[in-house]
Amino acid sequence: MDQEIKKVAVIGTGILGTQIAVQSAHFGYEVSAYDSDKASFGRAHEDLKSVLSKAVGKPLFTPEQWEEEARKVRLCTELADALSEADLVIEAVPEDVGIKRKVFAELDVLAPRRAILATNSSSIPISRIEGATTRPGQCLNMHFYFPAMGTSMVDVMGGTRTTPETFASGKGWVRSIGCIPLTVKKEILGFCFNRVWRAIKRETLYMWAEGFVDFRDVDRAWMIFTGMPQGPFGIMDNVGLEVVYNIEMVYYTESKDMKDHPPQALKDLIDRKELGRKTGKGFYTYPDPEYASPDFLK
Ligand code: NAD
Repeated sequence: MDQEIKKVAVIGTGILGTQIAVQSAHFGYEVSAYDSDKASFGRAHEDLKSVLSKAVGKPLFTPEQWEEEARKVRLCTELADALSEADLVIEAVPEDVGIKRKVFAELDVLAPRRAILATNSSSIPISRIEGATTRPGQCLNMHFYFPAMGTSMVDVMGGTRTTPETFASGKGWVRSIGCIPLTVKKEILGFCFNRVWRAIKRETLYMWAEGFVDFRDVDRAWMIFTGMPQGPFGIMDNVGLEVVYNIEMVYYTESKDMKDHPPQALKDLIDRKELGRKTGKGFYTYPDPEYASPDFLK
């Protein structure tokens, strides 16, 4: 039987963890959250409110609703407090297998025995983390795509010993917060849609870095073809270019194929602290990127 989930704990309240926490609260869950940096939730909350106020797609919240829903999240200064009654724990700390294993070991000790432990990792399969716990059957990947922006899908992937009950509960919970679960039947780096998105990133970064095309034309083509409000380069700016780089490096480390190595030109942007929206400059300049102008597609 699926396990009932009432209380959710989010560990790591950066840009993704904060969205997951607020979305869960919005759908009626009791949500607690913890971050080792006490200012993180407030910072991500303000950043997201500002992004929502300029969003051109179909975000889940207006900035006012966002403010209201965010107040429902119980922010904890101790990890143990955040975890004490959790039925589901979602980890959203930085994309580093060492940090994630350390956090999972702590979750295993502090969360109730019944709790399911999920990672929001963009690239690390749970099979590389589950061994840090004594409950591999209750561990799984649940990978979100900017939920507050209305990207209502979540990759769900099990590890080597994830039980069918855990998997079903995870999928059921994803549906209960207004998202479609994308079932990954067999472990693969990049899950379902992330792998599709990664093929797009690799190709478009290559075309830009080698000087074949202007990144704006790639984005124009994408926006016209898909009707989306941003193209791949605009999306990468929003994700954060250092996050993009690190994810590409995970694929390269796995394959050791230079075709998978992110281009030096991307590293050059990062070295200049041009990380995208968060630093005011990446491929585009913020807060008013060119692609948001009505003239961009003229
Ligand atoms: P982020 O850097 O914005 O947030 C990470 C947060 O974790 C920070 O606030 C940091 O203070 C906190 N943290 C670090 N160590 C901690 C610890 N030991 N305990 C508690 N908190 C700790 O990162 P993000 O972009 O929100 O990404 C988080 C995770 O979500 C990563 O695994 C990433 O791959 C994944 N993800 C990111 C995106 C994206 O587009 N940014 C999309 C889907 C998934």
